Amino acid sequence: MTSPTITLDHLIQTRLAEIAEDAWQDHRVMPVRDGNARILQLGTAAVEERWYCQADHGDGLCNEPLLPHRQASTLLGMYNDDEPIPHPQLPPVEIELLDPSIGCFMTDALFHWSDVVSEYRKAQG
Ligand SMILES: [Zn+2]
Repeated sequence: MTSPTITLDHLIQTRLAEIAEDAWQDHRVMPVRDGNARILQLGTAAVEERWYCQADHGDGLCNEPLLPHRQASTLLGMYNDDEPIPHPQLPPVEIELLDPSIGCFMTDALFHWSDVVSEYRKAQG
C-alpha cells in the first residue's frame, strides 16, 4: 500500500469544486464551462465571463454574467483597491476565489453585468 500523494494542484481543484458547489447552493451562481464564456466588453476593455447568475430576483432566471471585483475594475478602468460598484442594483455575491497572483483563496464579490454597465455609463456622464 502506498499512501496517496496530495499535490497542491489537487488541493486547489478540490477547493475550487467545493466553492463552486457552495456558490450554487447558496447563491445559484455557476462557473462558466470552458469554451462557453461570453466576452464582456465595455469601451476598449474586454474580459471573459467566468461566472453567471441563475438566481431569480423576482423576474425569472437572471442569467447575467457575474464579474469578480478585479474584472469589474478592469472594465471600469479603475485601480484594484477602489470599490468598483458602490451602489449595485442587484446584490453582489460573496465568494472565495483563487487569486493567481498570490496563489491563495480570497473572498471576493461578484457583480452583475448590468451593474457594471450602468456604473460605466455613469462614469461617461
Ligand atoms: Zn442575478
